[in-house]
Amino acid sequence: MKYSNYFTQRHKKFKRFFLHLPLVALCLCMNLFLLSCENPFMLKILEPKTIYFNSNGGSKVANQNLWKGNKVKKPADPAKASHTFAGWFEDNNKFTKAWIFDTVPTADVTLHAKWNADKTDPPDTGCEHQWGVWTVTTPAYCTAAGEETRICTIDPIHKEIRPMAPLGHDMKWVETKVPTYTEEGIETYTCQRIGCTHTAGTRTIPQLVITPDSDLSSILASLPGNTAATPYVLVVNIGDLSSIGDTLNANPDKYVILDMSGSTFNSIGDYAFAACQSLITVTIPDGVESIGAYAFRDCTGLKNIVTGDSVKSISIGTFFGCASLESITIPSAVTCIEVYAFYGCVSLKSVTFEGTIQEADFSDGSRFPGDLRDVYLYHYSGEGGIGTYTTTRSPNDDYTAKWTKQ
Ligand SMILES: [Zn+2]
Ligand SMILES: [Zn+2]
Repeated sequence: MKYSNYFTQRHKKFKRFFLHLPLVALCLCMNLFLLSCENPFMLKILEPKTIYFNSNGGSKVANQNLWKGNKVKKPADPAKASHTFAGWFEDNNKFTKAWIFDTVPTADVTLHAKWNADKTDPPDTGCEHQWGVWTVTTPAYCTAAGEETRICTIDPIHKEIRPMAPLGHDMKWVETKVPTYTEEGIETYTCQRIGCTHTAGTRTIPQLVITPDSDLSSILASLPGNTAATPYVLVVNIGDLSSIGDTLNANPDKYVILDMSGSTFNSIGDYAFAACQSLITVTIPDGVESIGAYAFRDCTGLKNIVTGDSVKSISIGTFFGCASLESITIPSAVTCIEVYAFYGCVSLKSVTFEGTIQEADFSDGSRFPGDLRDVYLYHYSGEGGIGTYTTTRSPNDDYTAKWTKQ
């Protein structure tokens, strides 16, 4: 009886195990589903790809399943009777696009084996071959070898075949995007052979420069209106400023970044850019020594100004009312900032002084917002002086903003 009891216990345990089997199987299935390639979530992350190898009558080559970012590994060459393996190609029969191993595929790819028939010596018929000229029977291509054949004129069944080396790519820089007055162009290094799409890099072509010979006024007029967030970049090389401010004012809906760094004028006259509200950034050429009175007055869109190193003086009201101006660097050559130069620059939050300005010239009326003038002048007591000053002001505390040296 004891014995049979023991077996009953075993039997119960056995039964319990089998009762739980469906539950265990369900859990396993759920896990498999999550890990499965059929799961759209996993598909998106892993981007599985299959590389198929069509050996074109040669020995079978196994497919490769790749996850995202994995390279195709070069399999061992297949074999085919009386043939020599000549590489894997994307285009079957044509064999112009040799697959470059160690590249990462972007989609499923089928690669096709190319075979060259082994040269079989013509049977020794005692013929003293009279060979004709070599003629191309399979043209060589960029990365694909070709073949030449010559035929015996005594018996055309006698043939000789010799390989032709691949030609290599015929690379040349080609303009793929034409430069304009507002955008750089692009050149692409491209293979010139018909049917080959091989490229190896791009480089930019500088945008066209507006000179006295090209009319800024007609160029601006031809451009569609834009916004302050997407200004046009214009490179202007000119000898004198003459009517440039008037031209900008005549096109108030064309927001511009004006790069004049290649220009040769050496002063900016009074009111030169006054009220040019569409001017976002301006780069002043290095040769400029003086910026005139109210030169940028009420350029309300002006955010950034790049001054040349030669600027010696900033005149009365030069940046008066430039309400968007956020930062400025005062070059070391500047010895004088006149009255109202920064009056109403309510967004100014960063000023860099590269040199020392004499107290006498740096009058109260320079109207740097808040206490910047005083903080800067502390250099007489060992503080202030050369350096960058910032403030966390709000727009309306033009008088009370507190500045600190960084
Ligand atoms: Zn012959
Ligand atoms: Zn090519």
